[in-house]
Amino acid sequence: MKSILSLGEALIDFVPEENGKALKDVHSFVKAPGGAPANVAAAVAKLGGNVSFIGKVGNDGFGKFLIETLDQAGVKTDKVFTTNDALTSLAFVSLKEDGERDFSFYRDPAADQLLNSEELQNAWFEGEGLFHFGSVSQTMEPCKSATSRAVELALAGGMIVSYDPNVRLQLWSSAAEAKETILNTIPYAHLIKISEEECFFLTGEQDENKAVRQLIAGNVKALLITKGEKGSTLHTKSSSIHVPSIQVKPVDTTGAGDAFVGGLLFGLSQQNQTFETIIDNEEIIKEILVFANACGALTTMKRGAILALPSQEEVKELILKKKVG
Ligand code: ATP
Repeated sequence: MKSILSLGEALIDFVPEENGKALKDVHSFVKAPGGAPANVAAAVAKLGGNVSFIGKVGNDGFGKFLIETLDQAGVKTDKVFTTNDALTSLAFVSLKEDGERDFSFYRDPAADQLLNSEELQNAWFEGEGLFHFGSVSQTMEPCKSATSRAVELALAGGMIVSYDPNVRLQLWSSAAEAKETILNTIPYAHLIKISEEECFFLTGEQDENKAVRQLIAGNVKALLITKGEKGSTLHTKSSSIHVPSIQVKPVDTTGAGDAFVGGLLFGLSQQNQTFETIIDNEEIIKEILVFANACGALTTMKRGAILALPSQEEVKELILKKKVG
């Protein structure tokens, strides 16, 4: 089994107790651990993978809670730093009737943004594993440089690099800056995961095939587009495979994309072949995508992100029950 490293933000999502209310009308929130790269790490660990999280939290109750939650999920937290210079990020999440959500972030600056390049050790990035990151850690220095340094080290160390931009425009000084940074980063990664909305934001193309041709460049070997209840599509330079989602009744879609990425990275980490061989083998990659879709679907059935992540047994049970795969 290959090891996985996920770098970026760990934060607290405050999730309303009832769906369908604007933030101003919500009376009470549930404290839920989150942050996309932390969610991905927890998703991999809950499935039984070997995963470490690299990030920084505040020396406060929320930071301690995040480390404890990651530990309990089975994530290795020896690469998580604690700082007295800023507090842990908070995100209030409002859920609409259909389970879709809007975010309101509290980070000015937050502890996760203070991760710096000098804290990264070359030895972490050596070996055959997978390295995953997102774009929230690219919104501000010093974590922007730390993220670039980590990508450099992962590539130099021979790791497969996975990037889920997870666009959160409120965190950027402008949409143009977000788009430019993300487009400049994509060619460094081997595996990209974006949503349909992000695909349009980045390329301005309604036609998926034309958009894909713009985005598959440089190191990119596989581009995954997630489509909520419609499932996900994998594009490579020469082929495309669509795998429908598994029908469930969603209550909160927070973390579905991260659970999907966790399932995908876990699936890849279980294979002995090279990344290129796996994505060219339709049978194997389809099986991994069905598994990842099931991880996403199960996560929509509970509130919050990390707390809603499924175990490997739950994923296999859903696949059998729904007779997919
Ligand atoms: P994020 O906003 O966290 O980046 P995302 O938009 O990438 O998430 P989605 O496309 O919503 O993520 O979901 C990822 C995967 O989870 C989908 O490809 C699908 O397999 C599964 N999924 C999401 N929503 C549903 C749903 N309502 N029913 C079934 N499966 C779902």
